[in-house]
Amino acid sequence: MRITAAVLNAPGTPLVIEPLEIEAPRDREIRVRLVATGVCHTDISVMGRPFPVDQPIVLGHEGAGVVESVGSAVTKVQVGDRVVLSYNFCGACPSCLRHAPSYCRYFFGSNFLGQRRDGSTALSRDGQPVRHHFFGQSSFATHCLCTEQNVVKVPDSVPHELFELLGPLGCGIQTGAGAIINVLKPQMGESVVVFGTGAVGMAGLMAARAIGAATIVAVDRVADRLALAAELGATHTVLADGDTDVVARIRELTGGGADCSLDTTAVSAVLRQALDGLGPLGRCGFVGGAPVGTQLEVDVRDVMLNGKTLRGIVEGDANADAFIPDLIRLQAQGRFPFEKLMKIYPFESIHQAMADARAGSTVKPVLRMPA
Ligand SMILES: [Zn+2]
Ligand SMILES: [Zn+2]
Repeated sequence: MRITAAVLNAPGTPLVIEPLEIEAPRDREIRVRLVATGVCHTDISVMGRPFPVDQPIVLGHEGAGVVESVGSAVTKVQVGDRVVLSYNFCGACPSCLRHAPSYCRYFFGSNFLGQRRDGSTALSRDGQPVRHHFFGQSSFATHCLCTEQNVVKVPDSVPHELFELLGPLGCGIQTGAGAIINVLKPQMGESVVVFGTGAVGMAGLMAARAIGAATIVAVDRVADRLALAAELGATHTVLADGDTDVVARIRELTGGGADCSLDTTAVSAVLRQALDGLGPLGRCGFVGGAPVGTQLEVDVRDVMLNGKTLRGIVEGDANADAFIPDLIRLQAQGRFPFEKLMKIYPFESIHQAMADARAGSTVKPVLRMPA
């Protein structure tokens, strides 16, 4: 079947929107017609870096769409179901069996290599393979193949205007919200500091407010972002303009050190501030794609004597099947207004969407696919 997709032909080159061929779904695969897809910073950062696999590849991993065709062994969804697409995992390794699929032993292979486990790909151009299955979806396309593992059925109660915006729940939004709700777990009245107010950080702030944290501090270099952070749940903001002693300011705002901090910047100097700004028994979580080889220097005595915890977090520890419907329910109650982060662009404007995300003028671009 012929589809249209945004293809990355070589690292550092612009995506090209062009026709490709997609195979019919195999027994355990599901073909989805995409309605919309978010743009995540992971898409942008892998475009510019040496990539672990050869191009061409189709990126995109925050898709929302309608099931169009299912393989003979698929029971989870039916043709016509509306779904959100999330990350992929093997379903059979020790992590997956312990219900921690974001730490799947095959996470890298299942999400970044652009191929099935057997090395094949469902996409081609003029008979030559094009890598697919990026995060089990490659959603910068009109159609994609995914698996039962990474589709989440959307409740019938969700109106179409909201459905279009659900794709980012499959990655960026669940990453920030899950880091707070599933991992750092601030108790009512505790303090939370979030470093970086992109989509992930904003989702973290909103989640902290939704579950009853008292002091919620947003830290960023961009003043406009901090204004939105204050609107969405931050009780205090700190502009990291180079002159401010960020750690001292956090200690002041939180009465001697925060209970929880979340770094979404993947910059070691910022992560160090997130750790240093904690009080006794504070928990620091971090997410984001730090370049390979990034190191962190830690004050060992400070961490030990204060009983601090440092925890890396993938996809918010979220089990998407359960967590995404939870977030949708919170949104319906007005307690998690993720729609305020989003701006819709037509698929053809993918370059503009990425430029705006990079510049910070749009927190979370969502591409609407041609009908
Ligand atoms: Zn696994
Ligand atoms: Zn992502």
